[in-house]
Formats: sequence, structure tokens, C-alpha cells
Amino acid sequence: MVQLTENENKKGTQKRDYQVVIQKVSKSFSKGSRDVKVLEDINLHVKKGEFVSLLGPSGCGKSTLLKIIGGLLSSTSGKLSINGKEVNSPSKSIGFMFQKAVLLPWRTVEQNLILPIELSQGDISKASERIGELLELVGLKGYEKYYTKELSGGMQQRVSLARTLMTDPDILLLDEPFGALDEFTRETLNFSLMDIAEKSGKTVVLVTHNISEAVLMSDRVVVMGINPGQVLENIFIDIPKPRTDQIMATKEYADYVLHIRKLLGVGR
Ligand code: ADP
Ligand code: MG
Repeated sequence: MVQLTENENKKGTQKRDYQVVIQKVSKSFSKGSRDVKVLEDINLHVKKGEFVSLLGPSGCGKSTLLKIIGGLLSSTSGKLSINGKEVNSPSKSIGFMFQKAVLLPWRTVEQNLILPIELSQGDISKASERIGELLELVGLKGYEKYYTKELSGGMQQRVSLARTLMTDPDILLLDEPFGALDEFTRETLNFSLMDIAEKSGKTVVLVTHNISEAVLMSDRVVVMGINPGQVLENIFIDIPKPRTDQIMATKEYADYVLHIRKLLGVGR
């Protein structure tokens, strides 16, 4: 098993190769009269096109970190830059997707997909071609005129993923995007997501608390600890892509999973 620390991996990699640079980011929330530190000294560098998973127990600050990267929340201290620019507010180059699809039930699929273009006052005339392409990409061709309430949970998440892609962001921030779905649907959607990431070359930061999913999908798994939230280890998954579920039967895959289980204190 190849395990590199982030520093080792940086050998030969210039700083400008990183698209997302997080330096010593901490975050506290006030609880009553005291401050509770949720994230402490997070350092994370993500390369363009890299697929990174943030993995850790519930409450370790994964969503908080993702919101900071997305400019939806400011850090208490530390620095964040994206494409070489310091960030304090949501940027067009970022697409966010949450566990629960926030779709408008009184709008059809295509009307939901058009929403980000309307909100950013973009050019709606070119949208219908893009809608067609994206629905094909997420496996929902022909569903343009359906109301979202007529779709299953998995289909709604596909719409949500397509909507996230509508503005063609460089970076996808996905917070347990398929976490509320049954296992079969989740696995199918994970493979769709891997295909989309590989074809488009987009950078992905995925929050998950599923160890095997993180190892299967990622170039790197960032294992986080809790109280306060911190990076325990960066684990580079040195398994060729595109990956199929065949790799789950290999020793290297099992070694990665076992290593992470130990780090997180799972099992016995
Ligand atoms: P995770 O996504 O890893 O489950 P979160 O980032 O949601 O963790 O939360 C980390 C910690 O920060 C939790 O203890 C949570 O209660 C706290 N927290 C998150 N958001 C807020 C907030 N807006 N105000 C106060 N505390 C918060
Ligand atoms: Mg969360």
C-alpha cells in the first residue's frame, strides 16, 4: 500500500498546481457564553481534477469545512484561496450539492435546472441544449417535463447533480449527496459521479462517512478526527482509474479500508 503524507506528495508539485489551498483554517462557534472550536488548524491542498473525500465521524466538522471552502461560511482564522485568489464569498467556479435535494416541487425538471442561470442572470436562450446534455449525462434523458415530485429520491438527486453542473463550475463540493438514498441507488449514483468527474476533469471534494465508498471513489481520502475537527491523515489511493467494483475484491483495497478503520477506531 502506498501511503504518502501531503508533504511527501508535494515533492515536485508546485504550489500553483493546487486549485484549493487551505492554510491553518480554524472555526469556532459560540455556544451560550463560550466558544467551541469545531475545526483546528486544517491544512489541505487540492489539485485541479483531484477527487478528494473528507471522511470522519459525525460532528467532526466536515460540512463546516465544505461550507468554508464554498464561501458560505467564514473561518475564524486561517486562509483559503481558490485558483490563486483569496476567497470570502461564494464563487461562480464552485457548485454545491447537499444530502437533500433542494428542488422546487412546483417546477418541472427543466425549470429547476434553469434556476441557477436565472439567479445569476445568465443567458437562458442557450440553456435548453445544456439541459438536454446534462440530463443525458445523469441518466434522465426524456424527463424534462416531469415535476420533481413525480420522481424517486434517486432521480431527484440526479436532477440536483445536473443542476449543480448547470453553471459549469470547476469545483464540485458535495456534502453526502447520496447519503439519504438506499444502498443500491447510492452505489449506482456513485459510479455516475465517478464517470462525470473523470470525463469532465472537475475537481471534487466529497463529504462522506462511508469508508469503502471513500476508498473506491477517491484519489485521496482525508481522514478527520473530532473534538476539535482535525486532519488525522491524508491517504492517497494508488489504484488505477477508471475503477470498477472489482477492485473491492483486491487486497490493496482491503488494506486501505482496514487502515482507515484503525485510524478511526472502528471495529476490534
Ligand atoms: P459533520 O458534517 O462532520 O457531521 P458539522 O460540520 O455539521 O459536522 O458540525 C461540526 C460541529 O459544529 C458539531 O458539533 C455541530 O454541532 C457544530 N456546528 C455546526 N454548525 C453550527 C452552527 N451554525 N452553530 C453552532 N454550531 C454548529
Ligand atoms: Mg455534515
